[in-house]
Amino acid sequence: MTETDAELLRERGLRVTQGRLAVLDALARQPHADADAVHRALAAAGHETSVQSVHNVLGDLTSAGVLRRFEPERSAARYERRIDDNHHHALCRVCGRVDDVDCVVGAAPCLHADAPPGFAVDTAEVTFVGVCADCAAAATTA
Ligand SMILES: [Zn+2]
Ligand SMILES: [Zn+2]
Ligand SMILES: [Zn+2]
Repeated sequence: MTETDAELLRERGLRVTQGRLAVLDALARQPHADADAVHRALAAAGHETSVQSVHNVLGDLTSAGVLRRFEPERSAARYERRIDDNHHHALCRVCGRVDDVDCVVGAAPCLHADAPPGFAVDTAEVTFVGVCADCAAAATTA
């Protein structure tokens, strides 16, 4: 696992550091975490680091194409390791939980809009916002 992550970092031209490996490990266990959640996971695993350095690591890994970053409405940016497909997200507006939604098309861009002349669309980011099953159940039993 750690060896694969180290190889992944090297492949993308990044130096292998404990901090980067720890962040990758945290996101393997908790996809769609925001920086605060990653920081909490690292602290729980005994890694002493600051939220700022977690932000830095997430930024480096995202620019290198190791992580995918997406920013749901009214929520902090989330990060995930599932980068090799064009999947979408379902965001619960009550608890903030995010689930993956497979793309029917599978390749970006899967939506074609009436973009401005000369504008080259390469991605359509789709977030489905609603209420998750748990929150819906809680609402009916409350
Ligand atoms: Zn919910
Ligand atoms: Zn996802
Ligand atoms: Zn799609």
